[in-house]
Amino acid sequence: MLVTMKEILDKAMAGTYAVGAFNVPNLESIQATIEAAEELDVPVIIQHAQVHEDEGLTTLDEIGPTMVGYAKRAKVPVCVHLDHGVDFDYLVRAMHMGFTSVMIDASAKPYEENLAITKEVCKVAHALNVSVEAELGAMFNSAVGSGGRAASSLDDYDSADEVYTNPQQAKEFIEATGVDALAIAFGTVHGVYLTKPALDLDRVKLIHDACGIPLVMHGGSGVSDEDNRTAINNGITKINYYTYGTMAGANAVRDYLATKAEGEKIFFHDIVAEAKKGIKADVKRAMEIFATNLLAAR
Ligand SMILES: [Zn+2]
Repeated sequence: MLVTMKEILDKAMAGTYAVGAFNVPNLESIQATIEAAEELDVPVIIQHAQVHEDEGLTTLDEIGPTMVGYAKRAKVPVCVHLDHGVDFDYLVRAMHMGFTSVMIDASAKPYEENLAITKEVCKVAHALNVSVEAELGAMFNSAVGSGGRAASSLDDYDSADEVYTNPQQAKEFIEATGVDALAIAFGTVHGVYLTKPALDLDRVKLIHDACGIPLVMHGGSGVSDEDNRTAINNGITKINYYTYGTMAGANAVRDYLATKAEGEKIFFHDIVAEAKKGIKADVKRAMEIFATNLLAAR
């Protein structure tokens, strides 16, 4: 069933677990993600990133209605979310298409500007019963697999305080804008981690204690199970996860093709089926980690 992000994240916060948010730029990743969530009987967020449109992977018009259709037919609560939206008109288009949640990412802009834009999006979205995620602080982007974003790291700044989310500022931002969830910066990276992640997990707890709304971790691929559990116990309720899932799909195809002899007939539908199996196994494993406390309470 199609639900808002607020609905599933408020429950997740109360139960101290996280809901996985998976980018689904093709049909097979939608199917794999929904099937995995149904088999585990956990809520899930499927999302379309505006950057995937810029990269030519898929457009909102192509994939959006398909995502909404799958969400409505699903046996578990599914939120359809617009990830890293940067253009107001684009966000509104998603809302009218049936998306139940949008992220406005104005985090690269000065604080006051980010606040003003986020406030405006909240006004429109909440009138349409659509949830809003915003971002405060600067997320790093890997040089590998971060979807066309320019690479960045802590080395680009004088100190972590300059770039990571400040708990007091987060509290003020939330009160002024009315956002339903906040993406925070504490050391996670979009794409592939080239060195072991060093996360400021205490900061998550400080932000959670100051703000009391669902917090979002981007760059979930490559974070250890232990760090995931600590992040969740400290207040993370939505984990954005894409890179490892799509890599698992590609690796499954590579393994499958390796079983084929030179000149042996191969079929595209078989390749796609293998990719789907690979994605599904990987995202299902991620969901199990994120939902540890939910599953344990059953
Ligand atoms: Zn992100």
